[in-house]
Amino acid sequence: MNFERVELSVEDQAFLDDTRALLSSLVTDEVLRRDRETGDNFDEGVHLALGTAGYLAGEWNSEADGGFPRVRRRLWEQEKRRFHVPWVTSGTTSMVARSVQEFGSPELRDEVLPGVLSGHVRLCLGYTEPEGGSDIATCKTRAVRDGEHWVVNGAKMFTTGAHNCQYVFLITNTDPDAPKHRSLTMFLVPLDTPGIEIQGIRTVDGDRTNIVYYSDVRVDDRYRLGEVNGGWTVLREPLNAEHGAVDASADGLQDVSIMMHQGGFMVSACDRAAAIVGRSGRDGRRPVDDGSVAYRFGRSVARMEVAISTPNVFGRVALAQTMRDVAPDLMDVLGEAAALPIDTDGAIDDGASEYVYRFAPLVGIYGGTLEVFRNMIAQYVLGLGKPSYSVAKTP
Ligand SMILES: Cc1cc2nc3c(=O)[nH]c(=O)nc-3n(C[C@H](O)[C@H](O)[C@H](O)COP(=O)(O)OP(=O)(O)OC[C@H]3O[C@@H](n4cnc5c(N)ncnc54)[C@H](O)[C@@H]3O)c2cc1C
Repeated sequence: MNFERVELSVEDQAFLDDTRALLSSLVTDEVLRRDRETGDNFDEGVHLALGTAGYLAGEWNSEADGGFPRVRRRLWEQEKRRFHVPWVTSGTTSMVARSVQEFGSPELRDEVLPGVLSGHVRLCLGYTEPEGGSDIATCKTRAVRDGEHWVVNGAKMFTTGAHNCQYVFLITNTDPDAPKHRSLTMFLVPLDTPGIEIQGIRTVDGDRTNIVYYSDVRVDDRYRLGEVNGGWTVLREPLNAEHGAVDASADGLQDVSIMMHQGGFMVSACDRAAAIVGRSGRDGRRPVDDGSVAYRFGRSVARMEVAISTPNVFGRVALAQTMRDVAPDLMDVLGEAAALPIDTDGAIDDGASEYVYRFAPLVGIYGGTLEVFRNMIAQYVLGLGKPSYSVAKTP
């Protein structure tokens, strides 16, 4: 790993200063409070302002197409995180926009992509279904051809951001009799089409996601992405990106694994706890002078450091698992006032560890569960073969 400091050029330093000034004017306490209340992880005003200032285009385009050069891209990623810019819907939008660029017709690209870069068009992921999401190829939402249209019926669970988006990247089943990976067709469905109903769901950490019902939704064939029954080809790339199966770049200007943003909440909780356990009380003793506090806090920090240094798909598992392991230890070390949530009087670490405690289970579910990732590592990285769930035969 390369720990060298990056010397910023005058231009890059100016970019950093401008970015910080813009974000401190945009991501106000009011924006953050509203975001916690709605659980949206998206703020339209901030998103549109970033579009106007060219940050959405800078992030999405490659350097060759006018996007940020490597160092600026890294600075931008770090500042977004430092300022807690609400991020989920921008993330799904840029992921889906790549598939639109690759598989959409020229007319569809023209309809969608300029708005993605200005911030007016947002895109969400319609993969998971109420009956199960890990094996998304078992999709039951049907699309049936009717002339130049398709008629879609079904339901999708956890379509995060649907209520703030204009289109959903929808997996449908177009041939129930075919083998499952040859039965899928992808669409980019406008969310204002009649027959679509979006209902909100709140998760344990306060995030909002949605269940979306599709009843006789008529979708023009021009919203199809890729071949009929060729949806798996369209899906592979965004799934790989979401699963963290793409290598980090060798120049060190990139997170070593995905989910580092989520891991950042654990890092802050550890930092806050460090300040508290190192502070002397009225009797002159510090909590960390107690051997059990020193042991459990030290173990938490060591685990956190290992998790944030673990690369690619292993890092994804390490971060989610470590968040689950570390949060209860931090809360125990800090005492009962650590059970109070953020912005509550008396919350000893302003709710940092309590938030990680509620957030960690989700980090090990969305985009693929920890169990599924462990199986993928066993099968594809360690070469241990396909898992067998049959009952072992006794000799
Ligand atoms: C906050 C949040 C946001 C989300 N946002 C989106 C979104 O925007 N769009 C979207 O489409 N989906 C979204 N999801 C859905 C998410 O991707 C799924 O929850 C996830 O893929 C798991 O699917 P499932 O919940 O249907 O669980 P299931 O697949 O039903 O799994 C149930 C249990 O069985 C285990 N299991 C399943 N298969 C295997 C296997 N092969 N090996 C070992 N164990 C297995 C799982 O680990 C789990 O414990 C979101 C979920 C959450 C919690």
